[in-house]
Amino acid sequence: MTKAKYPHLFAPLDLGFTQLKNRVLMGSMHTGLEETKDWARVAEFYAARARGGVGLIVTGGMAPNAEGGVFPGAAGLFSDADITNHRVVTDAVHDAGGKIAMQILHAGRYAYSPDCVAPSPVKSPISPFAPKELDEDGIEKQISDMVIAATRAKQAGYDGVEIMGSEGYFLNQFLVTHTNKRTDRWGGTYENRMRLPVEVVRRCRAAVGADFIIIFRLSMIDLIPNGSTHEEVTQLATAVEAAGATIINTGIGWHEARIPTIATSVPRRAFAWVTKKLMGKVGIPVITSNRINTPEIAEEVLSAGCADMVSMARPFLADADFLAKAASGNADLIAPCIACNQACLDHTFGGKISTCLVNPRACYETELRYEPTDAPKSIGIVGAGAAGMMAAIVAAERGHHVTLFEQADQIGGQLNYARAVPGKEEFHGLVHWFAKMLEAAGVDLRLSTRASVADLSGFDELVIATGVTARDPKIPGQDLPHVLSYQDVLSGTAQIGDNVAVIGAGGIGFDVAEYLVHEGQSAAEDIALWKTEWGVGDPEDTRGGLAIPGAQPTPPARRVVLMQRKAERLGKGLGKTTGWIHRAALKMKAVEMISGVNYERIDEGGLYISYGPSRENPKMIEADTIVLCAGQLSERRLADALIDAGKTPYVIGGADVAAELDAKRAINQGARLAASL
Ligand code: NAP
Ligand code: SF4
Repeated sequence: MTKAKYPHLFAPLDLGFTQLKNRVLMGSMHTGLEETKDWARVAEFYAARARGGVGLIVTGGMAPNAEGGVFPGAAGLFSDADITNHRVVTDAVHDAGGKIAMQILHAGRYAYSPDCVAPSPVKSPISPFAPKELDEDGIEKQISDMVIAATRAKQAGYDGVEIMGSEGYFLNQFLVTHTNKRTDRWGGTYENRMRLPVEVVRRCRAAVGADFIIIFRLSMIDLIPNGSTHEEVTQLATAVEAAGATIINTGIGWHEARIPTIATSVPRRAFAWVTKKLMGKVGIPVITSNRINTPEIAEEVLSAGCADMVSMARPFLADADFLAKAASGNADLIAPCIACNQACLDHTFGGKISTCLVNPRACYETELRYEPTDAPKSIGIVGAGAAGMMAAIVAAERGHHVTLFEQADQIGGQLNYARAVPGKEEFHGLVHWFAKMLEAAGVDLRLSTRASVADLSGFDELVIATGVTARDPKIPGQDLPHVLSYQDVLSGTAQIGDNVAVIGAGGIGFDVAEYLVHEGQSAAEDIALWKTEWGVGDPEDTRGGLAIPGAQPTPPARRVVLMQRKAERLGKGLGKTTGWIHRAALKMKAVEMISGVNYERIDEGGLYISYGPSRENPKMIEADTIVLCAGQLSERRLADALIDAGKTPYVIGGADVAAELDAKRAINQGARLAASL
């Protein structure tokens, strides 16, 4: 198994004045690294991906000016010093044998600033600031600033630029009547509305000369009301090609769209068909994007003629060596991007530096190193959940002798519950990756083995990763047979009725509700079904690709009521960029969500609740099944027994802190501990 398995993926692409070594673009991601101004760190992040064999890297979005920055202080090439700093990055990528283009991102009305500008003063639903309408001079300034950014990118040693024309940003805002209400030469007809993006490409090309890559990222399906049609997309693509673009990249959906586009519940390659519609209509290469995360899927998309190249972004956070591993027949060892957004986009929106749930080294390459040890130790690790497995892999890779004990007959711990949830099928791949990595690292895995204090006596170091146990909510009647734990439900072993009350609306309560309302094929594995459920149509038939008559979910498998004691909106603590999707998905399945309840008691008929501190409005929620999802407590019995026996084990993952535990924290803690042993 070598490159021959992926002939389309590894075919070089001749751009005339330069060649790309394969068909993979690392798509732009805002990691927050550039804003740290630690240029050695930025350089190592990109150089690692170049060493891993990516054909062409695109940087995170760089602001062309202050008003166009996604937020105040957003990075850009504003001075000679900036050019010198970016040189550090481009030199490192070139030394690693790679190529890199800088993305020019003007946010328009999406800029989180009172100084934001746009074609018309139409406030975006995802920003608190109404933009100022640009006059003719203002528009000229924006064009000129973008041209200056392209020129400086060339001076800084970049191989090209990507002009961001999609996702609802500035140039995209000119294209559609939803945001462009102008009546001058920049608004009205489509010819006028596309004038700005085309002019930007034309003027950038004139400024940078012929031998410089210009990618135009074009929104091929806006997924908003009054979005572009496919005819308009084609017209723009043709004009952008004539204006001097080298490559056209696909953008899918505006940020304000209410249809998920990259979340884990979106099927793999769900939008490749959109790019395919443009194939043959332009003479320059076309890139497709979104939810492509394995070499097999990438190869499939290319061999089906959907595009000339694929863009993958988050997969290169998960594994810098994605392509090197695919090329050497080790695709099984590629750390999979599970599209969770937990450590990348959620961090970005939380003002934190991105990293990756699966790969804590992402964006921390210069700080978190897995160096070979010169003093190998014997290390006993208990618990093959996310924390224990990661600790075992990193410690073994560094040269330690690792024994991993697991009382169950399979690895995975809580990850096994996640992968049972419709829309979370990517967790299967994550558990598979852990299995392959444990094997490759030479970890001595002991399944179905409950380690005792005596079993652990001979090791140099002990790591306890025994996870969590379910919290007992102590509700009178909870011992009745129709009251189940979330483990009973998600392991598929329990009989579940038609009327279910779910106690607890944290991540697991939401997952359980999702599991309960579904039956049959998961929409995450069936593109046609998923498109129907969310209302994705064809931009050839409907503006913006919004299907008429909208979302058409399949009916819920049963009636579900989801409850919490807190008086706030359910799902508030879910991921910043994915919480709305979980809420919308349950709403589509008519899940009733109730907050501010007290659980009074349970009997054969259902669950008795009341509301608020004074226990008002008592009522019974009729239910033939009640599921407890009331959070977890640390499972520390073994750790405590070891401490009592005079040992000093490291305790990680849920066994350490159960509150707000997730795979991101567990994996990060396991990796960091193992890097230090
Ligand atoms: P959780 O997020 O802490 O939620 C526990 C739920 O139980 C809350 O709704 C809580 O709300 C309720 N609760 C707490 N004490 C209770 C009690 N004594 N009686 C009744 N209800 C009680 O825990 P989880 O849902 O078990 O999830 C565990 C961890 O896995 C969380 O950190 C979660 O983020 C993570 N996870 C993440 C995802 C994801 O998609 N990212 C998915 C699954 C799990 P009230 O106190 O208001 O009742
Ligand atoms: Fe992918 Fe999740 Fe890692 Fe982001 S954090 S790159 S979505 S696995």
